[in-house]
Parts: sequence; structure tokens; C-alpha cells
Amino acid sequence: MNYKISQRAASLAPSLTLAIDSKAKAMKAAGEDVVGFGAGEPDFDTPQHIKDAAAKALADGFTKYTPSSGIPELREAIAAKFQRENGLTYKPSQIIVSCGGKHSCYNVILATCEAGDEVIIPAPYWLSYPEMVKLAGATPVILATTDKTEFKVTPEQLRAAITPNTRLFVLNSPSNPTGSVYSPEEVKALGDICVEKGVLIMSDEIYEHLLYDGAKVKSVASFSQAHYDHTIIVHGLAKAYSMTGWRLGFLAAPEPIAKAIDAVQSHSTSNPTSFAQKGGVAALNGSQAHLPLWLAEYDKRRRFAHQALNAMPGITCVNAKGAFYLFPNISKTGLKSAEFCAKLLEQEKVAAVPGIAFGADDYIRLSYATSLANIEKGLARMDKFCRALVK
Ligand SMILES: *Cc1c(COP(=O)(O)O)cnc(C)c1O
Repeated sequence: MNYKISQRAASLAPSLTLAIDSKAKAMKAAGEDVVGFGAGEPDFDTPQHIKDAAAKALADGFTKYTPSSGIPELREAIAAKFQRENGLTYKPSQIIVSCGGKHSCYNVILATCEAGDEVIIPAPYWLSYPEMVKLAGATPVILATTDKTEFKVTPEQLRAAITPNTRLFVLNSPSNPTGSVYSPEEVKALGDICVEKGVLIMSDEIYEHLLYDGAKVKSVASFSQAHYDHTIIVHGLAKAYSMTGWRLGFLAAPEPIAKAIDAVQSHSTSNPTSFAQKGGVAALNGSQAHLPLWLAEYDKRRRFAHQALNAMPGITCVNAKGAFYLFPNISKTGLKSAEFCAKLLEQEKVAAVPGIAFGADDYIRLSYATSLANIEKGLARMDKFCRALVK
């Protein structure tokens, strides 16, 4: 049978991350001792009070459709979070709860972009952004950066990339995959250009709370009314509350955009899972005591891994200031990222994600959302691998 696949679906890049991941899983299943640095999710459990709230909602029969953009209680808790933590005033009607931060990103792009539109995405990028832009029929415009600027785009770079067709600029700080964090001044400078040129900003702030070395973040929406009017903040509970499987994300947008996104969502997924939303309320309104403990643990791992990587021949690694990833430069080993990761997995049973998946072939991504013991073991193996490569 000759199945016709839509141009829309056929244009998507196959996921290299998944290819490596499924190979690593198959090796593990075959009893091999694989150390995985591929995880894009916290290794901690969801805090108990959040699980209890969802379990209670389920037991109480809170199992029916909710408003498609989320229950009022959760939208109010999200609006209160923006007020309390960011000094940003949003009405609940400007907040849309979706089935994960990824879904929020997709809704934003689908509701604002179409054929002929350009979306500026700094690389290394979270691998879903360009594919989402293509699904919307728009064109991703990639701005390359390197470790020399800590993977940050400069205002000059952004200005030069804007054309009359530019619709959206994607900002992700702290960043997946690099862990880099834009300072408030740097964010403002990029926001100023978008305001001047009438370009919307999709600000993915899902790693907002995962910061190290005293790094500070400020949302681009918070610099002026004009910045606020040009910004859609995408956020979620997956990373700071270890709720990746719950599928709860949210966004805050100017009212007309929120309304358009509500329409898109109401005809695609409808509401995010009812009882998961009750867990979301508990997450945002309840104790935040887990976070400093998790951050202390991540920080310990980050420091160890950063040092160990820079001691390897052929490897240099700028330190991350946020999220839970390091993005070492492997170019001096003579291998490109896919070959490096394939050989590292085959020869030393260490799984990492090739940078080419994020638009940066001279790097690989290591997640330190895994135990320090695993990190020590995996990096000792990677050290051996690099010593054999770089004589
Ligand atoms: C994890 C992540 C998200 C959202 O993940 P969900 O599980 O869909 O909530 C969004 N953006 C980036 C950059 C991420 O790493």
C-alpha cells in the first residue's frame, strides 16, 4: 500500500535523540551496563503534597471535562505566581493551561504564524521549535551561536536577521540544551529590538527556577508595557516540580492572542487532564521547600561534571548557569557529534545526545539529572574514550 503522507508531516526531521535513546534502552534491556546522560527530565519524584492533591481529586470524582483553557482555580494560581515571582499582572483570561509546556509552545506558534512568516530561533535550540514552525507552514530562521558567547545571540545578530516577514523571536533562558542564562540587561536589549521592529517574543521560561552561581533572570515581559504587549511567556510545571509525565504547561499572553490560542486548543486537545490540574494548583500554591534541596544537588553534580569534562583531552566546556545540562565542545576530538555519540555508546556504553539534534554539530548534550555516582562512572568512561581519540 502506498500511503500518502502529508507534506506537513513528511517535512519533519526524524529525532536523533530518539534514535540514540532507543539504542541505549535496547542495550540496557539486553543487560548491558549503560550510563545515560540523555534524560531531559528531573530524576527526583514529584513532591508528595502534589500527588496527594491529584489523588484526592481523582477519589472525589473530579474526572470530567473542564474549561478547555484550564480550571479557574489553576489559572488564578498561575496569575498569582506571575504577580508574586515576576511582578507581572495577568488576568486569568490571559492564561491558558495546556498539556505540557511543549503543547503551549505549539499553540503559540500555530496561533500566530503561517506560510510566509519567519520565526527567529537562536541555535543551539530546543529541537522542537523549528519543527513546530514547519508544522505551522512558517519558516524557521536559525541564528548560530557558539560557546565563545556562552551560546547567546547578540542584539546585532538579532537586528540583522529581522525582515518584514519576521513574526516571532524565540527566547529560551535558561536554555535547553546549553544551560546558558541571559542577564536581565541582555534580555532587555533583545526585547528592545523586538518592540522597535514589531516582532512578537515567545519567551520559554520553563527553567526559570533552576539557576546556579547567583544567576538572576528577569522576564522580557517585565521591562515596560510595550515589552509586555510583545511577549508570550511559555512555562510549565515539568522541570521545577518534576511533573514531566503529568502534562501540564501554561502560557501568559496579551488578551487577543490568549483568545486565539484558546480557540486552537478547544478544537484540538480540549482541556488538560482534570485531576492533574488539581495537582498543579497544589504545586503553585503549596510548599516550595523541595526546590533548594534539588538545586543544591544539581549544583554539586554540575560542578563535578564541569570540572571532569574540562580535564578530558579534546573537550572544553563552558559552565552552565541554569537548567540541568552541560554542552561540551567536542570539535578537537576530530569527530562530529553523531559519530561521537554513536561510538561513545558502542565502545563505552555512555549515552549522550549529539549536538546536531540542537543545530550545533561541534557539541554534545549531557544531562546531569542523574545521580552523582552515575555521573562519576559515566564521565570516567568518557575520559577513557577521549584519551583513546586524542593522542
Ligand atoms: C522540557 C521543556 C519544555 C516543556 O516540557 P513539557 O514536558 O512539555 O512541559 C519546554 N521547553 C523546553 C526548552 C524544555 O526543555
